[in-house]
Amino acid sequence: MLLVHGGVAVADAPEPRTGGVPLVPDGFVWPNCRECGGFLQFLAHLPLDPGTIAVFFCQNDPGMCDDWDATAGANRAFVFRGQLSAATVPAEGETLLGAVTALRPHPADEPTAKPVLGRLGGEPDWIQDDETPGCPSCAARMTFTAELEEGSDFATSANFGGGGRGYVFHCRPCSEAAFLWQR
Ligand SMILES: [Zn+2]
Ligand SMILES: [Zn+2]
Repeated sequence: MLLVHGGVAVADAPEPRTGGVPLVPDGFVWPNCRECGGFLQFLAHLPLDPGTIAVFFCQNDPGMCDDWDATAGANRAFVFRGQLSAATVPAEGETLLGAVTALRPHPADEPTAKPVLGRLGGEPDWIQDDETPGCPSCAARMTFTAELEEGSDFATSANFGGGGRGYVFHCRPCSEAAFLWQR
């Protein structure tokens, strides 16, 4: 399933999107970058069955932290299930994308005039080598969940180093998720 540009979404929309605010469980603490210490930027809200994945990465000083790396601590991805509500956004740091963009699922074998912003399921289309992460809890190879393209509007899109692609994985039994990007 492709994810095509679905227009502007509201900040706490339940559908797949980049930008806006994460939908989180009670007690959620906004994640920090393990490298620079600043708050991470919320990147994407993606559906899981059941639950959602929330992806964050460090944009406090782009290029300085290893936000492309699944395990360096400069990005985080969470699996959330149950009752979720909009997170309280920290008052400082580069925490939000410049736009909230709906990612509308679209069958991969049907033509679309909309910009393709990502893909759900299938196999990862690696730009570099296969970097499928191991689950931090059980060490099994994680399940590929979604790809995110950088987007065409540099004022509002994610920063994957200029033309890069983001990859989201999860481990269902452990409720773990991981993110990395390549270019
Ligand atoms: Zn950082
Ligand atoms: Zn696991």
